[in-house]
Amino acid sequence: MTYSIALVAHDQRKDAMVAWAKEHRALLEPHALYATGTTGGRLREEAGLDITALKSGPLGGDAQIGAMIAEGKLDALVFFIDPLSALPHDVDVKSLLRLGILYDTLMATNAATASAIFRTADTPAPGQ
Ligand code: PGA
Repeated sequence: MTYSIALVAHDQRKDAMVAWAKEHRALLEPHALYATGTTGGRLREEAGLDITALKSGPLGGDAQIGAMIAEGKLDALVFFIDPLSALPHDVDVKSLLRLGILYDTLMATNAATASAIFRTADTPAPGQ
C-alpha cells in the first residue's frame, strides 16, 4: 500500500533531513512523497527521491501540508523543526503541528522518532 508522507526541515535541520532520508531511502521510495519547496529540492537532488515539492514553508508550504492533513490526504509527517532559532513563520509551524495533533497524524519531529516509525512497520500508517 502506498501512503502519503510529507517531509519538512527548517534550514538548520536540512542536512539532518537529507542524511535521514538517504538512510531510509528504500523505505520512503514506494510512497507518495511531498515536501516544502527547499526541503523537496534538496531531497530530490541529494537523496534521489521522487518527491512533489510544494511552496517553500515560509511562503505557504507549511499551510499546504496542513491543508492536506485537514482534508485527510496525508498519512504521516516528518518535520525537523529548528529548536534553536526564532522563525518568521512560527505561526505556520504551530498551525501545522496543531493540525497534526488534532487529526492524530503520525508525526515525527526528530530523527530518532522518524526512524522508530519506519522501524516498527514497513508502512507508516497509524495503528498498523
Ligand atoms: P522549506 O520550508 O523546505 O521551503 O525551506 C521549510 C519550512 O521552513 O517550513
